[in-house]
Amino acid sequence: MPSAHYQPLELRADDNDEDDLLEEGLLEHCTIETDVQPNGRIRYHPQPVDELRSIGGMTAPRFSRAASSGMRRFLFVTLILLPICFLIYFVISPQSQDSEDADGDVDPHNGIGNTIGIALNEPLHICSERYEDHRLYIDDKPRSAYAQLPVIYFVTPTYPRREQIPELIRLAYTLLHVPRLHWLVANDREGCDNFLDMQLNGFGIPYTHMASPMPREYRKVKPAPRGVANRRAALQWLHQHNLTNGILYFGDDDNTYDLRLFSEIRQTQRVSMFPVGLIAEYAISGPVVRDGKVVAFLDSWVAGRRWPVDMAGFAVSLSYMSQYPNVNMPYKPGYEEDLFLRSIGLRIEQIEPRGKNCTEILVWHTQTKNKKSAVVRLENRFMDERSNLGALFRLLERMGVARASDTEGLLATISKNGKSKTHSYFLN
Ligand code: UDP
Ligand code: MN
Repeated sequence: MPSAHYQPLELRADDNDEDDLLEEGLLEHCTIETDVQPNGRIRYHPQPVDELRSIGGMTAPRFSRAASSGMRRFLFVTLILLPICFLIYFVISPQSQDSEDADGDVDPHNGIGNTIGIALNEPLHICSERYEDHRLYIDDKPRSAYAQLPVIYFVTPTYPRREQIPELIRLAYTLLHVPRLHWLVANDREGCDNFLDMQLNGFGIPYTHMASPMPREYRKVKPAPRGVANRRAALQWLHQHNLTNGILYFGDDDNTYDLRLFSEIRQTQRVSMFPVGLIAEYAISGPVVRDGKVVAFLDSWVAGRRWPVDMAGFAVSLSYMSQYPNVNMPYKPGYEEDLFLRSIGLRIEQIEPRGKNCTEILVWHTQTKNKKSAVVRLENRFMDERSNLGALFRLLERMGVARASDTEGLLATISKNGKSKTHSYFLN
């Protein structure tokens, strides 16, 4: 999902090495701070200098006495500023431990502190769900043959547009091959879509269909946080069901999934990762693996992300995730994966590389062209049972694909033997 079209986050002062900021003249702060930490690496939060001065009592006449009185003043200011700086560091920056990794590298991006305010507490609007598996056979074996496998919770954000139903049908026919899977379909719209209910019910796969609209304030933002409200709702559903067993995977409605992916992720102990094809400039994103261990990441858009991976490039075991009550996916376009993985305390040495040590591509970030739903000029008086067209256009309209109109849209061409004739010629 992240790609080069996202703007990197604006750096906060605490996102950079202190020295860099001082060099660039971006940071002015009390010199005593470097005395506070022996390693000299303090993460500063920008404070207007005037504010700091007034906090420090600098409104008194300046340095007009002897050196000893200056010294006393300096100590006085220091004593007042020291606790304030501590307060800023430890209280206002709760994620401060997140800024350095095991190698001691300061991480340039730490966005979670800005967004953690919106803790996961989504109102859930379930449209329909079914827990029984109605498939008798899955890949030529009776369903009972798979009873011991952990369940894969496959989370699909989706939203109304003319490609929605075809995308979900295509995905459903992939998922029909996968045993022990619960499909969480979270639809980005206000109310329930009865047509989607009917479709999902027809596939026979256990599923939960929920309405999870993007909050209005984010719709106006460009780029918008696509699919975040949906995934947050799904995380809330998992939390509410107290699930501590099974595997979570975020599978968008427009990706292409190799069936081997499902057997690979089913073994996930904590977090597994694997390459995703067709991501951004390199057409690939994924871990770099040496001696069976993930050592780095290949992705054309880093932007300070500690985990520069695609949403489809990892799976998480629920037994691991349930240990992190602050699991979150903030509304921060481009940083959803990174901040989600940070919220579950991932460490690089814990990552399980999949797909023959990340040499296979088991999922593709295919994208479908979006178009506005079509309007076809076709008289309402012909939309009856004299022909198939009435039923066809009613179905297309329920799917959000197209509608017929008496007055708007492109005039429908109806032809025979290569010649078009009036509508009434065929339909009257
Ligand atoms: N999505 C959504 N609401 C939107 C746009 C997208 O729920 O307004 C879903 C979409 O169906 C997909 C996921 O969020 O499953 C990612 O969106 P998209 O595929 O458009 O983004 P990309 O893969 O190009 O980053
Ligand atoms: Mn997509």
